[in-house]
Amino acid sequence: MDNLLHATCFKQALDLARAGRWEEARQTLKGLQDEFIALYDENQALKQQLREVAEVLDLSESMRFDGQKYWLETEDNREGPYCQVCYDQHGKLLRLQEQKRHWQCKGCGNLYLKLEKRKDSEPRQAGSRFPSRLIKNPIPLFVK
Ligand SMILES: [Zn+2]
Repeated sequence: MDNLLHATCFKQALDLARAGRWEEARQTLKGLQDEFIALYDENQALKQQLREVAEVLDLSESMRFDGQKYWLETEDNREGPYCQVCYDQHGKLLRLQEQKRHWQCKGCGNLYLKLEKRKDSEPRQAGSRFPSRLIKNPIPLFVK
């Protein structure tokens, strides 16, 4: 039921009441009330979806790609690393398990070799989400 129809129904209920046809007026108002409740529920569900989308957007803005893996960075904290494959394909944050020479994703099984002598001062591909296709030169981290 759209807004115009709602307005029409209110007018109808008013006309019925003025004509003393109370039962019909009551039925019309009851129908409007049911519609109102359905719209309220739909509105709540949409608000919830909006909140979830906003959370995902906030999350993606805090994701940093180091050339291999993702890190979740806030102002004073850095968590991770997380699996690039799982995040890019499914939007899932799977924490990598640290092994002696590599990191392992228990979700997809991917291995990420540990890079020796990597300095935090090296420029990161901040915010880059599609590194392999967009970066033409080899990623420096893999060369040295
Ligand atoms: Zn994974």
